[in-house]
Amino acid sequence: MPAIGIDLGTSNSVVAVYRRGRPESLPVQGQSLMPSCVAVKPGGGLLIGIQAKTRSLVEPTQAVLAIKRHMGDREHRVELAGQSYSPVDISALILQKLAEAAQDQLGEPAGGAVISVPAYFTNNQKEDTRLAGEKAGLRVLGLVPEPTAAAIAYGLNQGKDQTILVFDLGGGTFDVSVLQVKGNNFEVKAIGGDHALGGEDFDRRLIDLLVRRLRNEGGLSSNAPEAEIRLLNAKLKEVAEAAKKELSVADAAEVTVPDTRGALRVMRITRAEYEGEIRDLVEKTIVATLETLKRARLSADDVDRVVLVGGSTRVPLIARTLAERVSEPYTADNVDEVVAHGAAIMAASLSAVAEELAPIEVTNITAHSLGIQADKDRFAVVIPRGTKLPAQAVKTFTTARDNADRTDVVIFQGEDEKCNNNRQIGGVGLTGIARAPAGLPKIDVTFSIDADDVLKVTAADRTSARTGEVVIERFTPKPYQPGPDRNLKDLQSLRFGVSGVGCDNAGMVLRGLGLSSRDIEDKDFRRAAVLANYDVVFINCMADSTQLYGLGDSINPELNAPALQEFVSRGGVLYVSDFAYGNISVPFPGKIKFGERFQGVAGTATATVADPDLRALVGPTCPIEFNLAYLPALSARSDCRVYLTRGKEPLLISFPHGNGHVVYTSFHNSQQQSEKAQQLLSYIILQTIALAANTPLVELVESNNLRDTNRPRRG
Ligand code: AMP
Repeated sequence: MPAIGIDLGTSNSVVAVYRRGRPESLPVQGQSLMPSCVAVKPGGGLLIGIQAKTRSLVEPTQAVLAIKRHMGDREHRVELAGQSYSPVDISALILQKLAEAAQDQLGEPAGGAVISVPAYFTNNQKEDTRLAGEKAGLRVLGLVPEPTAAAIAYGLNQGKDQTILVFDLGGGTFDVSVLQVKGNNFEVKAIGGDHALGGEDFDRRLIDLLVRRLRNEGGLSSNAPEAEIRLLNAKLKEVAEAAKKELSVADAAEVTVPDTRGALRVMRITRAEYEGEIRDLVEKTIVATLETLKRARLSADDVDRVVLVGGSTRVPLIARTLAERVSEPYTADNVDEVVAHGAAIMAASLSAVAEELAPIEVTNITAHSLGIQADKDRFAVVIPRGTKLPAQAVKTFTTARDNADRTDVVIFQGEDEKCNNNRQIGGVGLTGIARAPAGLPKIDVTFSIDADDVLKVTAADRTSARTGEVVIERFTPKPYQPGPDRNLKDLQSLRFGVSGVGCDNAGMVLRGLGLSSRDIEDKDFRRAAVLANYDVVFINCMADSTQLYGLGDSINPELNAPALQEFVSRGGVLYVSDFAYGNISVPFPGKIKFGERFQGVAGTATATVADPDLRALVGPTCPIEFNLAYLPALSARSDCRVYLTRGKEPLLISFPHGNGHVVYTSFHNSQQQSEKAQQLLSYIILQTIALAANTPLVELVESNNLRDTNRPRRG
């Protein structure tokens, strides 16, 4: 039974096998690339692959594309024909289709499979890929990073040791990896890239060019409504992608563009013009490539081969720029299939069948830095990114508070110096620390990762000899929840939606509680059907309206009110932050109406903390900067909860509406920086959650994390 290799791609997937001494793709429905698409059949049932893709063009709402972007998101669900599917379910359907096609051609089921994953995939993303394979009935022999697979496909049997740079530019992501190949040993030296850069950005630039042209030629009036422009943009998407592909082979492309009056216009774009539009994006890829080389302690001259992978490397400017700045790239005939070929070689090497193939050894590195939270929200790195696996490191920390007998060791991965911007992957509580003044105890935190990427973290207090340990099993992080339990049972069943922009604090508090949330897009605040998927929704008036989107309609009552009101009436809890700053009307009881830009009490003040719980937390007073002239009227309402007052002016107000609640908060940016304000905000967010769970007030536990002794202290 031969083993197969699968490239489970965002747009397309490929299945391949190693036989007769070389890898070859196994076509699915006659084509080597199968669209990674699942759709509903008109008469019921599901379509997978090419037919699904065709259907998606006619009925986009009946199809799922690019599910790979959601891999690892355990909350994400898609609805197809009244059934709900997870990213793992959808990926399993795709993998099953590939496995069936392979079986048809091999005449027997595959003996096992190696599936490729992006080098930057986090632990859950990898674990979910493996699960999808198992769900599809495959015996998953292993996962291989895509660039490593490409290097194996290219570098095997080249007969010499060499340094390979894999340049992978797909539809939405850019990855670069540097590998050193010695015989059958492939060692990853550095990984880099940009996960928000790809062929879709090239499409976007072409769309912008076409829209500019339409404007100049009078095909689009300067005051065309926003909705019309959006529709035009959507129509141009396919036109632009087709033109882009044409420009990969021709010096010019002719495109037919519909103007807003419905007439068709023919436009000509030259390759030179197109290259002018995308030059800065290409430059970004080069800068990231050089940075990655630098991290591998190599220069462009050390690179023997640049291997191109991904559909977007067909853009000629890429190969040209790489040749000038790094090294002449090698272009395989099948940039879309190399990854699957490498996976097939790997599969053959791992299964006992291919005796003719000497075992392939892959040495991997950590794709992310790993460390713990220390000094409040600072990310103290224990194992830096790019460390060769297996790896082990110890760092010594101390307590931040006098007489602390317990501490939380919260584990993160990422590159930002703040934990909040990285990803929490687990944690362990260490109890029984010998009480001593802050800074005296010595707590050794040991990280070890084995070759399979299993991470073990141990914390040990040298004086008491007490230890705490957590094993983060094969990529299955469990959110760690510091401190005593907090009615979490009730909370875990709640569905939280957080405005994609401007509600970072809410996301942070939820993460801290081990709860997950989903981003809601601006336009979705107008859709009752979307809001019906949530119990608690966090929205930021300012960010969602004028400032970031330039639309000014996020909290516009005419657009949003019906959906938001329905949401709250049905029992939803709506949290509205920054409400004093936008030019907004909030369509809820209390009739707060700010038709004009808010004018009123503005400035800094010392607020008196009225709520006893909050007082215990932040003290009797708190510096506040605000703008709250409308509030005296509100404080007269008996059904409002008012937590913080300045004289008679409340800062947090919440009142029932229908079966639900609306909570308003207002903080000024500068104020948000202060530690107390951060605590306060967290507290208000917690109260919002508590309202939704109908639980008693949520207890707030003081942060109790470690101090980094490896870092000089100021003051
Ligand atoms: P991948 O994620 O590797 O499947 O790459 C998909 C991306 O490659 C999409 O943005 C495609 O538009 C782009 N692409 C595919 N073929 C070409 C081509 N001939 N020229 C330029 N871009 C292409």
